[in-house]
Amino acid sequence: MFTLPHLKYKHADLEPIISAKTIEYHYGKHLQTYINNLNKLIETTNLKDASLDEIIKKSDGAVFNNAAQTYNHILYFESLTPKHLIDKEINTIHEGDLKNAIESKWNSVEDFIKEFSDTALGIFGSGWAWLSKDINNKLVITTESNAGNPLTSNLTPLFTIDIWEHAYYLDYQNRRGEYIKELWQIVDWQEIENRFKK
Ligand code: MN
Repeated sequence: MFTLPHLKYKHADLEPIISAKTIEYHYGKHLQTYINNLNKLIETTNLKDASLDEIIKKSDGAVFNNAAQTYNHILYFESLTPKHLIDKEINTIHEGDLKNAIESKWNSVEDFIKEFSDTALGIFGSGWAWLSKDINNKLVITTESNAGNPLTSNLTPLFTIDIWEHAYYLDYQNRRGEYIKELWQIVDWQEIENRFKK
């Protein structure tokens, strides 16, 4: 049985970047629905006791869609943190392995953010922009449509931005670029670094 994960912040804590209302619907209703659907769909299958990663790698159709959407949303929500908890500006991401890896691939954190943002902005329709690491620990930016997840390409997801309209429409309407730009202010780099080091 999969359950809604506990968030380390309250619904209003990401304001004004993401409103309490968006968290209430996006986390409380959209994600809950994917989890409910997934539990129901796998109940009578041999994936009943499998991990989310395993289900994503072994399934297709409705099971894949609901498992991947569960995974994608959990990673997204757990990659965000209230602004007041971030001790420094985004451009001064802590020195360390993740920053080194970003700089060796994109030259600077700013250049990485620009490429990631442009990539996310360019997704046609609903989908996800991803930062992942490959089997050689090299970083890569990819996009997925609908419920797509990099695990199926043998990548380990580190960070994602939800580009479905339900992620930003209440707060930004059609202004996807503004949503992406503002979101960097509440990214939990420590969490991403922890995933990178695993
Ligand atoms: Mn979503």
